[in-house]
Amino acid sequence: MSSTIDFDGGGEFYTDLKARVRAHLAEPGRARRAHRRMYAKTAVLIIWTVVSWALLVFAASTWWQAALLCVSLGLALAGIGFSITHDANHGSYSPNRNVNRTMRWSLDVIGASSYVWRTKHNVVHHTFTNIAGADSDIEQLPLARLAPDQKRRWFHRFQHVYIWPLYGLFSVKWHTVGDLGLMLRGQVGLTPLRWPRGRELFGLVAGKAVFVAWSIVIPLLFHPVWQVAVAFLATSFVLAFTIAIVFQLAHCLEEAEFSSIDAMGEAGRTEWARHQVETTVDFAPGNPFLAWYLGGLNFQIEHHLFTRVCHIHYPDIAPIVRETCEEYGVRYQSHATIWSAVASHARWLKRMGAKADTGRRMAVSPG
Ligand SMILES: [Zn+2]
Repeated sequence: MSSTIDFDGGGEFYTDLKARVRAHLAEPGRARRAHRRMYAKTAVLIIWTVVSWALLVFAASTWWQAALLCVSLGLALAGIGFSITHDANHGSYSPNRNVNRTMRWSLDVIGASSYVWRTKHNVVHHTFTNIAGADSDIEQLPLARLAPDQKRRWFHRFQHVYIWPLYGLFSVKWHTVGDLGLMLRGQVGLTPLRWPRGRELFGLVAGKAVFVAWSIVIPLLFHPVWQVAVAFLATSFVLAFTIAIVFQLAHCLEEAEFSSIDAMGEAGRTEWARHQVETTVDFAPGNPFLAWYLGGLNFQIEHHLFTRVCHIHYPDIAPIVRETCEEYGVRYQSHATIWSAVASHARWLKRMGAKADTGRRMAVSPG
């Protein structure tokens, strides 16, 4: 049994699709308008974050004011993660390399390592999407079984109930053992992760220092420890819950395909672009507010095919992608609303936790 994953980078489908998308993006004024919108959006998100933080630390005088501001700050930080951090780390925030390099540091400032993220997300997740044992995003064992080829434990039958609050605790993992553990292990999934050096090490240490300063040290100068701890945990919970749900809706639901390292080995050379589309699902394509707030992450099919394209373009290129998929018999799936995607994720969790379900995928006809 082979366990080598061999992707074919091109193929007629992807070559044709790239040409169509490139022609669309080259239309006069399109790139300039996108840059302007990105900078305006960045300003809105940073102002939202700073105002929420300042009011929480310096102005809130009742518990309900603090609670509302924790929610506001958590959502604002998630917005930065979706729209600034994610694009900058893919190199799609700006055509200027130095601007991307500066903005990708925003992840360190909000509490996780951008250095680890670029291997974990850009390389591991984006290459080996939904392949059990190779895509670290679906490795939440033993807490949750998200893919058919993962081992089922008895308590997974309750995972569709208990997983939701756990999503809110993921950021605690990033702040503590998550990134450091991966760096010490020197590996994410099958992909090596070397210890950061030079500029990367400086960014990691300085980013942590800035994060600890705004989130813990400065608040402690004005408030008792227990209040800072509660506000920190509440904000982290909102941030992590929002980010986890949005990322889960792209790949962990009934319509997405899953595979394993062995199955990929047996399948032999696989068309990379087809694999990306069929393991990914869009949602709420007609909702402009969600497209704005989620940084285009409700268009994850388009994102997985065009990671270097700024997310502002995704709603416009989605019809081109859908049409090309239909022509080439590639299964393109999209939920009309966020709620139907959430319901599908819940059903998938229940199915993966059910004893009777072996997890084998049902045959789904293309188109
Ligand atoms: Zn991405």
